[in-house]
Amino acid sequence: MLRTELDALPVEEKTGLPYSSKVRAKDNSGRDVPVMHACGHDLHMSSLLATAAILAHSKETWHGTLLLIGQPAEETITGARMMLDDGFLTRFPKPDVGLALHVGNEQPAGKVGVGAGYRYASADSLRITIFGKGGHGAKPETTIDPVVIAARTIVALQTIVAREVKPGEPAVVTVGYVQAGTKNNIIPDQAEIGLTVRTYNPEIRKQILAAIARITKAEAEAAGAQREPSIEHYERTDAVYNDPALAERLQGVLVKVLGKDNVVPAAPLMVSEDYSYFVEAGIPSFYFTLGGADPQKYAQAKVTGEILPSNHSSLFAPDVDPALRTGIAAEVALLRNLLNGSAEDLRKSMAQAKPN
Ligand SMILES: [Zn+2]
Repeated sequence: MLRTELDALPVEEKTGLPYSSKVRAKDNSGRDVPVMHACGHDLHMSSLLATAAILAHSKETWHGTLLLIGQPAEETITGARMMLDDGFLTRFPKPDVGLALHVGNEQPAGKVGVGAGYRYASADSLRITIFGKGGHGAKPETTIDPVVIAARTIVALQTIVAREVKPGEPAVVTVGYVQAGTKNNIIPDQAEIGLTVRTYNPEIRKQILAAIARITKAEAEAAGAQREPSIEHYERTDAVYNDPALAERLQGVLVKVLGKDNVVPAAPLMVSEDYSYFVEAGIPSFYFTLGGADPQKYAQAKVTGEILPSNHSSLFAPDVDPALRTGIAAEVALLRNLLNGSAEDLRKSMAQAKPN
């Protein structure tokens, strides 16, 4: 299976490219928003289409079943889950191996980034509402101030990674927003905070989520809140895991087709990707990164310390040639390698290398 994402982002494109997006659309809440492929999914789609054309025109070079999928709603980490819920594994033959790539400016175009094991973190989005008791700002004795509880909670949550998680385990607890109140002399009834939690290890993930619940409840109780805070866990995705044996085999294939210098080890990142749902569904996978930066600008930026526009920026613009050419070459080579032996052989070698 080879997967591309299909979705774009509500960003106004400012790259100045002749093919800049001018599209506008309504978002889920009905707001009119600009639309841009600010995460490079357009390049992933182009790469998959070209790969499909090449393999369709060279059927004598491979055999087996190639499943090409376009996944919606990656940015909201919901599309993979929806495809699986919609019977992906029963309506189509279950893939023995899955492949996916992602373009970014971390490497210059022409190179790919590879690695085994965890590649992207799990993500959990939490909305916590703290219930106090509002009143006059000059009469705190008549209130239970949710602003103060929220402030204490935010600080206490930072002790989870610092004091509870084993040092060396990658973990992030970020409070991305806090909302409370309307006016300086009114103590509001409630406060809301929004969190994102990132980690690799499922045990650490459980530990952190439990600690968040424990600390949040205890801080409210310490302040005398009458009602327990509500914790909504509204988005989640697992970590993306590269099957180690598969990664080793396919990295060798990439070295052969792109050259040793163009296949570089890439450190795992704390960002997330809902491709993890396919891995979780039992499809051993290889996920790699595709260099997108203009090689000259990349070299210059290394010297000046300038930071190139990242994914999701209105200026994000992969250097199409060689990035696209490299993506296609990599995909074709990986698929030919996987689809050259018998499906039975592949299944056997994959069975010996299941993630645990
Ligand atoms: Zn993306």
